[in-house]
Amino acid sequence: MFKIIYFTGLIIMFIFRLFYRWRSKTNQIVDSRKTALEILLLFLAFVGMLVTPLIYVFTPLLSFADYQLPSWMGWAGVMVLVVAFWLFWRSHADLGRNWSYTLELRKGHQLITSGVYKYIRHPMYAAIWMRGVAQILLLHNWIAGWSHLLSFSLLYFLRVPREEQMMLNQFGEEYQSYMNRTGRIIPRRFWK
Ligand code: SAH
Repeated sequence: MFKIIYFTGLIIMFIFRLFYRWRSKTNQIVDSRKTALEILLLFLAFVGMLVTPLIYVFTPLLSFADYQLPSWMGWAGVMVLVVAFWLFWRSHADLGRNWSYTLELRKGHQLITSGVYKYIRHPMYAAIWMRGVAQILLLHNWIAGWSHLLSFSLLYFLRVPREEQMMLNQFGEEYQSYMNRTGRIIPRRFWK
């Protein structure tokens, strides 16, 4: 049951992405900071999100790493997943045509500081973190459950400082003051 919910969730998020990708496709890229390391990390995150869960569900290869969780924890995972969907959807809607899957600036790139971006600078990554937590609660296996959280944390910690530096170079003071009033993934007033 929780496995089915997990994969349904992946498909829903994938469809969101396809739609927003199609919408921002015509928006020309003027600055790209895509590196080989970044592509490798994106690939690892993809493996952790899709490949290990598929191996877990369709083969017995990972069964040595299974563990048991009470079913209420699985339902807690469903709730986290629903909140993650909402935040993922809102952050795509607020970022609109400025969105990229990697570090890029588009033609006429606008700094978004409203909607969910009013409180945190990385709501999309926050949603991906939450989806990773939901994966642990839905797939009860040390490898298939944890693989995305681990691979995504590498991507997150290496990417965010570069992303913020890119935004600072582009938007200067405006981004600096935006940084002063927001948290990365937790709103500032809860953080301080
Ligand atoms: N880190 C953000 C956005 C992820 S998408 C989040 O987690 O919600 C990555 C792209 O978004 C980057 O290439 C950058 O160009 C763009 N971006 C990040 N923050 C932005 C903002 N506040 N306004 C406009 N574009 C932004």
